[in-house]
Amino acid sequence: SYDYVIVGAGAAGNVIASRLSENSGISVLVIEAGPSDEGVTAAIAPLLAPTLTPNTPYDWNYTVAPQVGLNNRQFALPRGRLLGGSSSANYMVHHFGSSDDYDKLASLTGDNGWSWANMKKYIFKHEKIVPPNDGHDTTGQYIPANHGTTGMLSVSLPGNSQVIDAKVTAASQQLAAEFPYMNDTATPEKIIGIGWTQQSIGGGVRSSSSTSYLRSANSRPNLSVLINAQVTRLLPTGIENGKLAFRGVMFANGPNQIPGVVLAKKEVILSAGSIGTPQILLLSGIGPQADLQKLHILPLVDNPSVGDNLSDHVLLPNIYTVKGSDSLDGVFRDPAQFQTAMNTWTTSKKGPIANGVTNQLGFFRLPKNATIFSKGADPASGPKSAHWEMIVCNFWLNPGVALPANGSFLTFISALISPTSRGTVKLASSDPFDKPIIDPRMVTTDFDKFALREAVRAVKRFASASSWSDYIIAPYQTLAGTTDDEIDSHVRQLSSTVFHPVGTAAMSSSSSKGVVDSQLKVKGTAGLRVVDASVWPFLPSAHTQGPTYLVAERAADIIKSA
Ligand code: FAD
Repeated sequence: SYDYVIVGAGAAGNVIASRLSENSGISVLVIEAGPSDEGVTAAIAPLLAPTLTPNTPYDWNYTVAPQVGLNNRQFALPRGRLLGGSSSANYMVHHFGSSDDYDKLASLTGDNGWSWANMKKYIFKHEKIVPPNDGHDTTGQYIPANHGTTGMLSVSLPGNSQVIDAKVTAASQQLAAEFPYMNDTATPEKIIGIGWTQQSIGGGVRSSSSTSYLRSANSRPNLSVLINAQVTRLLPTGIENGKLAFRGVMFANGPNQIPGVVLAKKEVILSAGSIGTPQILLLSGIGPQADLQKLHILPLVDNPSVGDNLSDHVLLPNIYTVKGSDSLDGVFRDPAQFQTAMNTWTTSKKGPIANGVTNQLGFFRLPKNATIFSKGADPASGPKSAHWEMIVCNFWLNPGVALPANGSFLTFISALISPTSRGTVKLASSDPFDKPIIDPRMVTTDFDKFALREAVRAVKRFASASSWSDYIIAPYQTLAGTTDDEIDSHVRQLSSTVFHPVGTAAMSSSSSKGVVDSQLKVKGTAGLRVVDASVWPFLPSAHTQGPTYLVAERAADIIKSA
């Protein structure tokens, strides 16, 4: 047995493993379903991220249920299944959300420890800003004082400049009232505007929770890591203060394999992510009693919130055809160009492969007088939070739709950042190796439809700036429409996920709702916590790795002082 058993070596799990094992008197085991990330080129070379998922051995290869708000389409919901979890598979955009997000979390949980005033310090423990690998002058592209330089995860500004960069900056100057320039895209006190993307990349290679937190702790004799072992359920180990303790963890290498069991002396920490964590809780009899009974799982702790409240950012590609051959499409399409770029990366860790998918992004709000606000409350966390995001990609980025054989493309992704749609993660059967049923119910509310429609219109205004006139040819296919109906149809045909599910084991102070309390203990149980993206009760104004890392850093402090 170990003092702590951590389930899942993802973004959050590796933070906990690394922080708890700092004390050599504490023994820690991490159990990960997937293999090691070492030597997996697509998990190391930044621009190859979109080739690591979906439909590979490093992905859980989930598909969402038919989406009623999106023409009943089904699409992939990638989740990393290797050391580092989704931090080894993600697109490496790195920031933390708005200060409002943390203050809202504090108010929903009744725990001021989640407020921005307290959480800010964890940026400096977590982050290590390093120079971009092309060595360009970053003056004015970020605010050094707001960032860590001695933390764990390497973060840098874009390491490969692109022809479109200057056009984005010029468009923001030309349309400054609507698209102001933002001099740091990862300062939570001020996120509205467009600026330079910060990425979890250092020295031209991906920085994940595995390459940083885990690898730096790997030589500690008190830390053990078990890979290729899927946790199938938690086992009850007794009753403490009237609550069932779950300190037993059952795992197996695959279906029909003999399971192993390990015990935690102090605690089990579930860090299996927003899909894996509710799946394991449900398989263990912790969840909605009626659902469990239908699947012949003995309900041990009745909690209707497990797997409920699934919330995800919507990704809508707005694609333009563009002149010339300066887009990255050639690298993805032409084996010769790809090989040249790979050779550059292999020898110098420079060039397009050393960089992520976007050099610039921005967060924006709907206008104050938008008609939708007369129909319901503003779902953003506060006035400093965003309703939508624009991500500028110098190529065809359209998940699930193959790059056309010819042409150069520019994609302005509009992402819905404050969705009000909520969905579910449910078990399909009591078999732990069956995929759960994942239904985010995307774009099923009036707010979501309105916000996406207005985001498309805003993207079109941005693309009409004169800085694009010698570059953009035309909107591609469904983007050409201008009426509400045409834009709604474009949304329904092309929307999918930004890969940011949260909320399925939400924190709350309420006794009737939520899965964990503000100390991340699973309600109605003993010896069991959840630390991962699933505890966020709502989506922060951010790509979710940064907010997950910060939650995990504070969680480690909470566990240490328990
Ligand atoms: P994860 O990092 O997913 O870790 C969960 C771990 O648990 C995994 O290793 C998994 O294999 C393991 N696990 C699950 N079930 C079991 C089980 N039964 N037994 C044992 N182990 C188990 N965020 C950003 O900020 N920027 C981005 O650019 C970005 N792009 C993304 C692109 C993709 C393709 C994906 C998939 C995600 C992206 N994200 C991005 C999201 C971000 O990576 C996640 O929010 C973050 O990693 C969540 O951390 P987590 O600890 O909750 O889960």
